[in-house]
Amino acid sequence: MLSGAHSGDVLQVDLHAAFGGTEFGVGPDFPNLQQVGQAFFASDFSSSGVFYFVPEATDESPIPHDTSPARGFQGIVTADVIVDAVPRSLEFLVELGFSETGPNSVSYGNNLEDILRLEQRLRFFGYPEADGNSLDVDGFMDTDTQWAISLFESAHAHTPHDPQVEKVRRDFVNSADAVHWTELTASPGFQILPSVSRGPQPERWATDRAAELMRSAGLSLSQSSSSTLALRSASPAQGGDSGFHTNELNGAHDAGLDLDFETPSTNDSATPFFATREINGQRYIDPGNGDLVFYQPGVGYFAAQENTYSLNDAVRVEISAGSTDPRSAWNNRPVLLGIRPFLRDNLGGGYRVDDVRAQIMALLSAAPSGGAHVEVIHYNDPRTWTADRNFNWDGDGLSGPVQFRSNLSGIFHAEVAPSVHDMTLSQVHVDEIVAGLDGHDDLFTHGGLSTPLPSIGESFSQMNVSSANEPVFQNMTSTYYSLARLVTRRVGI
Ligand SMILES: [Zn+2]
Repeated sequence: MLSGAHSGDVLQVDLHAAFGGTEFGVGPDFPNLQQVGQAFFASDFSSSGVFYFVPEATDESPIPHDTSPARGFQGIVTADVIVDAVPRSLEFLVELGFSETGPNSVSYGNNLEDILRLEQRLRFFGYPEADGNSLDVDGFMDTDTQWAISLFESAHAHTPHDPQVEKVRRDFVNSADAVHWTELTASPGFQILPSVSRGPQPERWATDRAAELMRSAGLSLSQSSSSTLALRSASPAQGGDSGFHTNELNGAHDAGLDLDFETPSTNDSATPFFATREINGQRYIDPGNGDLVFYQPGVGYFAAQENTYSLNDAVRVEISAGSTDPRSAWNNRPVLLGIRPFLRDNLGGGYRVDDVRAQIMALLSAAPSGGAHVEVIHYNDPRTWTADRNFNWDGDGLSGPVQFRSNLSGIFHAEVAPSVHDMTLSQVHVDEIVAGLDGHDDLFTHGGLSTPLPSIGESFSQMNVSSANEPVFQNMTSTYYSLARLVTRRVGI
């Protein structure tokens, strides 16, 4: 029995190596193999006996003889073949997971086998086609394959999705650290809201890093608060730009690392997160006790009885949309910071800052075993701005883990830290890269093409440098890129 194949791998089957012989075909029961996966025949199969078996890598429909609930097919596959006109039966074992190294790991060429391996791995990791369906493993580097590659890229680096990307991150596609794409599900303390039109939530997909965080943060929240994390949106099934997040940064919500949570407040000033009073048709901040909040240059913000100072000096909810007047609170960070001590919950609107604080604390404190964490939260209630994770609620909204972001008043937006960050290299890192490249140069010059490269594990010949059909420069560039990524990962930035 052949072994060594995993659910996220492509297995090369060599009938000549298994049985000898010179003429190869398939037997009448060969289609049974295709109930648990696909077979792709080398163009010279009839004389070489080589085909590729691609096990089913999803759990979308029941797989016959699947022996484990883990993702994809696991079990023994039987293939009936014909070798030199004699029927033969071949068995091979497909095990859990995927190969990080060895002949069944993802390879980086442009041959059928290379593309099958890459597609199969992306399908196993859950990366979809442009329509959100599971990636078809077909051996063609087409727009759907590129879509999945580029989403994989964005999900690791938190960069805007660019569907033109063709090169996959070598530092992750064969790594146990690889980020998977997954559908979020409700769990204690974490609920998924319907869409705003009350249909199924269309943006309920994310990275597995985000999913682990939701389970962890939700569980701790359920033990400390009666509120729940209510997901307003994550990412659409296919990832990429959904058109729903035009008030956010370019690329926000593209790649399953951004999550919006609903609060009883609204994004416009209709239902603020603070109590208000209406006087003569104008809405003012209500600090309680019949007071208003006033602003005077040189003095700043203070509370006083309504008739003590001119109403013109009282801080309103919003003088006009986008106003930066020191007496216009809505969506205005310096004013929100100044009036923070005077804000009271808009209880009539159902708003309790303690609930939101509990949710934010649960998110920022969650540390699931996979190492995921929330990097920053954007929200405009200044009573949730904290300078650090000690939660003294003393942040200025510009730095620290909870920050102001224009137009985020009805929801708060959490960013899950990506696996890697693009960065401007310091001299120390440049020196590391140069030293690494010197090592490559030595190998290239003295070690020959077949010596595995440090940190990368492949040799130049495996990377096809010597092949006439692919420019050496392209491969060297890719190597430099991989090395820079490895340095970035090693320094943990
Ligand atoms: Zn958002």
